[in-house]
Amino acid sequence: MNKRQRASKIHKILEQLYPSPAIPLLHSDSYTLLIAVLLSAQCTDARVNTITPKLFAKANTPSKMIQLSIKEIEEIIRPCGLAPKKAKAIWELSHIILNKHNGMVPNSFEDLEELPGVGHKTASVVMSQAFNQPAFPIDTHIHRCAKRWGLSNGKNVTQTELDLKSLFPKKNWNLLHLRIIYFAREHCPSRNHQASECPICSLFVF
Ligand code: SF4
Repeated sequence: MNKRQRASKIHKILEQLYPSPAIPLLHSDSYTLLIAVLLSAQCTDARVNTITPKLFAKANTPSKMIQLSIKEIEEIIRPCGLAPKKAKAIWELSHIILNKHNGMVPNSFEDLEELPGVGHKTASVVMSQAFNQPAFPIDTHIHRCAKRWGLSNGKNVTQTELDLKSLFPKKNWNLLHLRIIYFAREHCPSRNHQASECPICSLFVF
C-alpha cells in the first residue's frame, strides 16, 4: 500500500468514526471563534470553553472588547495561561479589526496573520471553521499522527501541512483536520497508545 492509498484508507476509517465532528471551541461567530482559538494556545479546549462564556458575556464584539482594559481582559482569561500576552493581543487585534476591517474579522490568510497573536495555525482554523475555506491547521495531535501514520516525516509542522495537503483532496481538509484531532485525543495520545486496540496503525505498521 503506498502513501496515498494509506491516506485514503485512514480517511475512510476516520469518516466512519467521526461522521460529523463538532467544532470543539464554543463560539457564535467569526470574532468569538478567533478569540477562542487565540486563547487555546498552550491551553486545552475544555478550559477555554469554561472561560470564554465569561469573557463574551462582557464583550463579544471588537467594539465591546476595546471598552475593557487589557487588565480586565487579563483577569478573566488568566486560567488559560499566558494571560498578559493574550490579553494584549485580544485588545490590539480588536482595535485593528474595528479600524482596518470595519469591525469584521478578515477572511484572508494574509490579513488574519497580520493580527497580533494570530499565527498561521490560528488563521487556518478561522479560515476553515468560520469561513469554510480549505485549510489544514496542524496542531500537535495532527503532527504526531501524521508522523506515526508515515504520512509525513515529522520534521516540522510546516512540512506536515504540505505533506497532508498533497495527500488528501482539498474538499476533505476541513473535516479531516477535526477528525484527526478527535481520533488523536481518543486513541492516539503522545504516550501509552494501545496499538493492539487501535483501528488505524494495526492496518499498516504493527
Ligand atoms: S496504533 Fe498507536 S500510533 Fe497508531 S494510530 Fe493507533 S494509537 Fe496512534
